[in-house]
Amino acid sequence: MTQPAATTPRPSFPELPERIKGLAGVVANLSWSWNRDARALFRFIDQPLWHLTRHNPIELLRRVEPARLAACAQDPAFLRAYDAVIEWNAWVATTHDTWFETSYPNLAQRKIAYFCAEFGLHTSVPIYSGGLGVLAGDHCKAASDLGVPLVGVGLFYTKGYSDQRLRLDGWQEDADERFDVAATPLQQVLGAQGDPCLATVRMSGRAVSVGAWRVMVGRVPVFLLDTDLDQNDPADRGLSYRLYAGGPDLRLRQEWILGVGGVRVLRVLGYDPAAWHANEGHAAFMLVERVRELVTRGTPFAEAVRRVRSTSVFTTHTPVPAGHDTFSPEQVEQCMGPPPVWQEMGVSREQFLRLGAHPALDHDRFHMPVAAIRLSARVNGVSRRHGEESRRIWAPLWPDREAARVPIGYVTNGVHLATWMAYGLVSFLDTHLGPDWLQRSDDPTLWDRVLELDAAALWAVHTTLKAQLMRSIREQARRRWADQWKEALHLVGAGTLLDQDALTIGFGRRFATYKRADLIFRDPDRLQRLLVNPWRPVQIVFAGKAHPGDEPGKQVLQRVYAHTREARFEGRIAFIEDYELHVAHRLVQGVDLWLNVPRAPLEACGTSGMKAGLNGVPQLSTLDGWWSEGYDGLNGWAIPAAKVGEDVDAADARALYGLLEAQVVPLFYDRDAQGVPRGWVEKMKHALRTAGARFTAQRMMRQYFMEYYAPALRGESPPDDPPTV
Ligand SMILES: *Cc1c(COP(=O)(O)O)cnc(C)c1O
Repeated sequence: MTQPAATTPRPSFPELPERIKGLAGVVANLSWSWNRDARALFRFIDQPLWHLTRHNPIELLRRVEPARLAACAQDPAFLRAYDAVIEWNAWVATTHDTWFETSYPNLAQRKIAYFCAEFGLHTSVPIYSGGLGVLAGDHCKAASDLGVPLVGVGLFYTKGYSDQRLRLDGWQEDADERFDVAATPLQQVLGAQGDPCLATVRMSGRAVSVGAWRVMVGRVPVFLLDTDLDQNDPADRGLSYRLYAGGPDLRLRQEWILGVGGVRVLRVLGYDPAAWHANEGHAAFMLVERVRELVTRGTPFAEAVRRVRSTSVFTTHTPVPAGHDTFSPEQVEQCMGPPPVWQEMGVSREQFLRLGAHPALDHDRFHMPVAAIRLSARVNGVSRRHGEESRRIWAPLWPDREAARVPIGYVTNGVHLATWMAYGLVSFLDTHLGPDWLQRSDDPTLWDRVLELDAAALWAVHTTLKAQLMRSIREQARRRWADQWKEALHLVGAGTLLDQDALTIGFGRRFATYKRADLIFRDPDRLQRLLVNPWRPVQIVFAGKAHPGDEPGKQVLQRVYAHTREARFEGRIAFIEDYELHVAHRLVQGVDLWLNVPRAPLEACGTSGMKAGLNGVPQLSTLDGWWSEGYDGLNGWAIPAAKVGEDVDAADARALYGLLEAQVVPLFYDRDAQGVPRGWVEKMKHALRTAGARFTAQRMMRQYFMEYYAPALRGESPPDDPPTV
């Protein structure tokens, strides 16, 4: 493979002592972030700094006292741990002994390209906004662990995703800060002669230069495309500033760069993937570009479409047509030319636009998921229920079929265990399941054994994690107060009055209105009685951002925030600002109960409840997304579907209060002589068992591999079931 030289390494920290120079290599690959020995090493170097830098080891090495590093380099215990991490890091550089290598020795030479508009890899790399990105990050990590030869392609957002800052009145202001690339493991990829431009893409009549940054996620490289290059028109440079900010024109052009630029950059870097995965409709132009490639090399259009279809996978994540990206023909024409791309593809404008035409809905517009479905023979939703919804939503593309026979399957999302399970719990499981249990985490019988865990010991692990959450909430409030607020009123809302012993409910997710963060406030008096009961107090911790353009979402957020300061709730409601990976970790690991109340069937899957489950935190949720297949009566609580004709919000709120009052609160406070809530711990074990056995990213990746990638890598033709209209 002809790899252009990656840039000059950017050692952004002072020289390391010789004996521990290898740390530079460790921090260059995000695999440290899910290796607990590596993390322990950084924590050992300087624990307060480790916390202050939000677990950013590059920042840590920049700021740590040189004398402290020199001392570490002489400390035998540190050096033993260091050597083990270096050895592991060397192993990550190979694919030896991975599941993929042992199971599929014949497929090793072919790559799978994975396109997504965002990747949530680590707090220090702010190029994601929420669930889709975090899922893509977990997808890459699982591929790395299993040795699956994936290469990721995304966009580089030089200004990251907005930091969330709430005004005193709770209105979300979106800070627009350029992030410091030197404090991340991103490396600019340079072409021949050190040129940052790797490929050009024609757009709006200009040739746009596209560069790329590479971030290593264990064994998986992810290339992030960048148009902020000197030679580009200012309008094009701004394309890769921000994620999901700006109107549809900007978005279309970002997606054009992602799809077309992504394929071209991969080619320049010498990749010839045998399978191509478009994760969500944003990436559909990757498929279009591959059709164009084939046509320009002499393949007739229809045959090119057939070949692209047979090697492509499309995953849809949106259960409502309104959530799909669509563009007007004028926008499409304006972006893709001149000369228009269809000329090169050997088809008319009408034939091209037909690729994205929905037969029933806004027929004139170009629907990204429709184009992706037409150009991918393997299509899936992200939970069993979402698979059903997707077959129903897309049935108009196959008008001669009933929904059940629409060729769309499902792979339920999963979360990356080593990223999401608290290390306190991992270590606890070491002692009960054997130190190598992580290597056997795919064995369902292993997860049956968590039911035998000692209840008091598991409760003690949880209590420690909860104390860590409370401490970090107070620390964040302290810093914000001193640096930024200077206004004591914020302190109540930030959670400083939270009580370590009270039943603590967590709600962390994007503030989209369908997620109904405000459902629990429908009957404030009933909620108040629940929260301020002196014998059995309850408290709620909220976190989440609204999309910068989502005014209704921001209004819900503002209303929720206003409640945090109402004296009647006695400081038992908190809002943690700036929900991102770091905050998400703390929350899913430290609360007692995870709350999830989307209006069914609008949650395609939802993954935060799985993260909570991996930490033994049970979920109370509407029966939507993954919970409609994950809930088993023992691992949490379910709000049943409202009856036909009922006001859904009112019915769901009633069911929510009913469950909390009659089941959740009594069970939590029912303690034995040692103060252990036996019945509650039973729920915790079942939550852990369900998440570990069925909802990890490892399970998800194997399933994608076996059902979707491997057939494509083997060149097997899928049943060719293209849409008929
Ligand atoms: C997991 C996660 C999400 C997605 O959570 P959902 O349950 O799917 O809404 C969003 N943001 C962050 C930071 C996450 O970690």
